[in-house]
Amino acid sequence: KPNMKVSEVAESLGISNAEIIKKLMQLGVMTSVNQSIDRDTIELVALDMGFEIQDEVVTDITRFDEMKFEDDEKDLIKRAPIVTVMGHVDHGKTTLLDTIRHSRVVQGEAGGITQHIGAYQVERNGEKITFIDTPGHAAFTEMRARGAKVTDITVLVVAADDGVMPQTVEAIHHAQAANVPIIVAVNKMDKPSANPDHVMTELSNYNLLPEQWGGKTPYVEVSALKGKGIDTLLDVIQLVSEIEDYKANPNRLATGTVVEARLDKGRGVVATMIVANGTLKVGDNIVCGNTYGKIRTMNDDTKKRLTEAIPSQPVEITGLFDMPEAGDIFVSIVDERQARQIAEERQARQREGELQKQKKASLNTMFAEA
Ligand code: GDP
Ligand code: MG
Repeated sequence: KPNMKVSEVAESLGISNAEIIKKLMQLGVMTSVNQSIDRDTIELVALDMGFEIQDEVVTDITRFDEMKFEDDEKDLIKRAPIVTVMGHVDHGKTTLLDTIRHSRVVQGEAGGITQHIGAYQVERNGEKITFIDTPGHAAFTEMRARGAKVTDITVLVVAADDGVMPQTVEAIHHAQAANVPIIVAVNKMDKPSANPDHVMTELSNYNLLPEQWGGKTPYVEVSALKGKGIDTLLDVIQLVSEIEDYKANPNRLATGTVVEARLDKGRGVVATMIVANGTLKVGDNIVCGNTYGKIRTMNDDTKKRLTEAIPSQPVEITGLFDMPEAGDIFVSIVDERQARQIAEERQARQREGELQKQKKASLNTMFAEA
């Protein structure tokens, strides 16, 4: 693990020696400018200031898609792909997600007692696939606007009797901007008016030339309603993830993204999160957007209690003091006090930002009225 001198860290963060010493003191680290601090401490300071370190280049932590974790290749293990389903309204996103969810083969889960937690996993051939179960663009758009890279693969649902519609195009743009591989699910193939060739022709204009026609985009014909073609779709997802080779390091403090959150009368803040890297454990202190807390309970979407969660695993947790937002990034922090400090500083920054906005707005109205 590389150590750096305090003065060097200050320089790379663009702050003075006095400032960094103060920051470190606030974080409970007593040191001098000539002493070295370890990687974790450097990250903590950077994180505290809203930065993340990436190959010595400092980038904004809110830009999660640019976050890089300097894990040793030997520490990396395979992780499940994280899949989002997108497409035009009424083209069958919810139906597809439900059908996949109920098709999963998990022992002791006959009857499929599942609860909606915003994300779920299915197991196939001993490998897992994570689905974000909040279809529609709201979640994806919001998360992307907040810079969160939450998905590895997009399944684009297009109704074969309807073809490319405005939200289909929107979805394509989102996925392409995020550089996420697209698999097209041509849905409603059970309908007599289904015209998959028409869908392929239309989509070819959007850089989605079908593999069948010599292009790069996999197309799978399905009927979400009748459960047809689902196995093939899952096969293709696993094939794509095999090629993309998603990996993570389970042996580090966890980091990840909030998918959704709600307030429960008895349990307080309940948040669904997906672990991006590391292992999340009950008892972990986390900073999550502008809030923080200690993981009190953790369960999966089958309500099974968990003590830890590995990369790509969606979990529902309690223990946060405040409501996070969809797309918020969470980071485990060793020290509870540090977690609180970082959250409080972020809240203060947010308040300051809002204050500035208000000032600006009132100035604008003043000018407008003048
Ligand atoms: P969403 O708005 O994309 O989530 O679409 P829904 O899943 O709510 O589906 C919209 C309508 O299309 C519902 O009435 C579904 O029953 C119907 N639907 C979805 N998939 C299929 C399918 O494969 N075949 C047929 N015939 N209808 C479907
Ligand atoms: Mg829906």
